[in-house]
Amino acid sequence: MKLDLTEIFDNSVLCIEFDQSIEVDLSEVANAVLNPVRVKGTVYNTGDGIFLDGTLYYCYKDNCARCLTEVEGEIETEISGRILEDEESKLEESDEKLIAYNKDEITLDEVIADAVLLSMPMRILCGEDCKGLCPKCGKDLNQGKCECQDDEVDPRLAKLRNFFE
Ligand SMILES: [Zn+2]
Ligand SMILES: [Zn+2]
Repeated sequence: MKLDLTEIFDNSVLCIEFDQSIEVDLSEVANAVLNPVRVKGTVYNTGDGIFLDGTLYYCYKDNCARCLTEVEGEIETEISGRILEDEESKLEESDEKLIAYNKDEITLDEVIADAVLLSMPMRILCGEDCKGLCPKCGKDLNQGKCECQDDEVDPRLAKLRNFFE
């Protein structure tokens, strides 16, 4: 995704707003993310520099880490950065995210891919109280108990029972 910042650089405007839905190649970073990703934000000139602030919205689809049910969710995350000329941005040491421009244009694909990667949940669950699958028979315990659960005894309890017998 490219943004043309000519009007900012020639000072005809102080701020440019954008709202786009784009296809981002995220296969490297997150298979679960569904395209398109929506990016909405502003590029503005404070007189002290040119900055970008925005919000990303995307949906993902993945399997619950416990029961493997397919789960869909929506994520909203912020992006921001300071826009600098290509060469400058390599030299600058800063905690800010730096976005390089080239011929009055910035390309946001990498910034977007990074933001998606950072905001993806590490472990996706269909619900906080998901009971998962039985490790023995594989039954989805959210749908009810399975046969093998009842005769399963905690080995520590079994020891105690032997002790009292
Ligand atoms: Zn689950
Ligand atoms: Zn079972």
